[in-house]
Amino acid sequence: MTKRLIVVGGGAAGMMAAVAAAENHADVTVLEKKEQPGKKLLKTGNGKCNYSNFYLTERNYHGHDVDFIARTVRRFHTEDLVRFFESAGMLSFARETCLYPSSERAETVVGVLRSRMEALGVRVITNTNVTSVRKGDRFFVETSSGVYEADSLILATGSEASVKDRDPYSAYGILKSFGHHIYPLLPSLVPLYGRNGVEEYWDGVRIQATVSFGSAKETGELQLTAEGISGIPVFQISHDAVLSVAEGKKTFILIDFLPHYDRDSLIGFLREARFGDTQREIRDYLLGWFPKKLVFALSRINDDLYRKHVKVAVYEDFEAVVDGIKRFPYEVTAYGSVEKAQVMQGGLDTAELTDSLESRIVPGLFAAGELLDVDGECGGYNLHFAFATGRIAGEAASK
Ligand SMILES: Cc1cc2nc3c(=O)[nH]c(=O)nc-3n(C[C@H](O)[C@H](O)[C@H](O)COP(=O)(O)OP(=O)(O)OC[C@H]3O[C@@H](n4cnc5c(N)ncnc54)[C@H](O)[C@@H]3O)c2cc1C
Repeated sequence: MTKRLIVVGGGAAGMMAAVAAAENHADVTVLEKKEQPGKKLLKTGNGKCNYSNFYLTERNYHGHDVDFIARTVRRFHTEDLVRFFESAGMLSFARETCLYPSSERAETVVGVLRSRMEALGVRVITNTNVTSVRKGDRFFVETSSGVYEADSLILATGSEASVKDRDPYSAYGILKSFGHHIYPLLPSLVPLYGRNGVEEYWDGVRIQATVSFGSAKETGELQLTAEGISGIPVFQISHDAVLSVAEGKKTFILIDFLPHYDRDSLIGFLREARFGDTQREIRDYLLGWFPKKLVFALSRINDDLYRKHVKVAVYEDFEAVVDGIKRFPYEVTAYGSVEKAQVMQGGLDTAELTDSLESRIVPGLFAAGELLDVDGECGGYNLHFAFATGRIAGEAASK
C-alpha cells in the first residue's frame, strides 16, 4: 500500500524530504504557510545561496549532542549533496571551500527542488499554516485550511530567525504537545552590541581584524557600527557570546585590530618613530595604521596616553598602546534580535530522535532541519544540515 506522508514546511529540509520520500514512491503532500515554498532559501548567501562546504565536520556545528551531529553529517556528506543537485539538473562551483549553484542564484536551487517535486507528483499546498497535530491510528494535521491525514509526518518548519511576520511557531508547540523537550531558543549568527563609549566614533569603519571569545577565534572583515560589532567573524563567534550574555555573564570579546603584525614588531615601529624628528602625538602617528574614526574611538579609552608626544613616550606607553590595539576588550551586553539572526540556536533535543530522525516518543513522526538543536557556522553548514536531515528523514519516513 502506498504510504501517505505529510511534510510540514516547504523550506530546504522540507523540499528535500519530499523529494526523497517521493523517489521512494510515497504519496507526499507538503504544507507550507507562505505563498510559495523556499522563501528563506531565496535570501541565503546574499541571494547566491552558499548551500554546502567541502570542509564539513561536526566541529562546524553547535548543539548539545555532538555525536548525533557527527553521525548525521557523515550519512549525507558534501559529495552526496553535490551529486543530488547534479542529478536534479543543477551544477555547482566552489569559492574556496564554500559551494554555490553555478548560476550564483538561490532561485536556481529553489527552482530545481520545485521541478523535482513536480516531476515526482508531490502536492505542494501553500498559504496553509499547520497549527496542531493529533495522533490516532494515523496523524491528523490541523491547519488554517482544514485537516489533513497521513501515515507519517515530517516536521521541517525551520526557525523564526529573520522571519518578520512571526506567528507562534507551531512546530515547537506540536513537539512539546507530544512530550518532546526543546532546548531554549536564542539567536545565532548575529551582530553583538555594547556600550563601551567608542561605538559612536567608529560607526561605519570596516577593517580586517581577529575577534575571539573563549576558544573561538575568527579573522575577517569586522564591521564597526553605532551599536557594536558585526560581520562574518563576529557571526562566527556569536553562538557562545550570545549564550554568555543570555546567562547574565560578563562577556568580553577580544579584538585584534592588526592581526597580521605581532606585538613586538608594532612596539618596534613606535620606538623607531621616537627617534625620528616627529613632534606628533601617538594618536596622529596611528593615522598611518588605521582609519581616523577608529583612532578616535581607541583614544576614547585612554585619551592621556594617545595624546602623548611620540618623542616623550616611554616603552611602557608603547606597550599599553599596542596591547589596546591587539587585545581590545569589547564588552558585549546585548545581541541582534531574532529578526537580525540568520539561525537560532537551541531546538528539538536530538537525543529524542533515532539516527533516521524518527521520534523515540511518537513512532511515525520525523523532524528535520533547523528545528533541531543544531546550528552551524557561516559557510553553507546550515543549509547542508537542512538538506542532509531532509534527505535522511524523507527516505526513512517513506519506508
Ligand atoms: C538572511 C539569511 C541568509 C542565510 N544564508 C545562508 C547561507 O548562505 N548558507 C547556509 O547554509 N545557511 C544560510 N542561512 C540559514 C538557512 O537559511 C537556514 O538554516 C535553512 O533555511 C533552514 O532550513 P529549514 O528547511 O530547516 O527551514 P526553512 O528554510 O526556514 O523552512 C521552513 C519552512 O517551514 C514553513 N513553516 C514554518 N512554520 C510552519 C507552519 N506552522 N505550517 C506550515 N509551514 C510552516 C516556513 O514558512 C518555511 O518555508 C541563512 C539564513 C538567513 C536568514
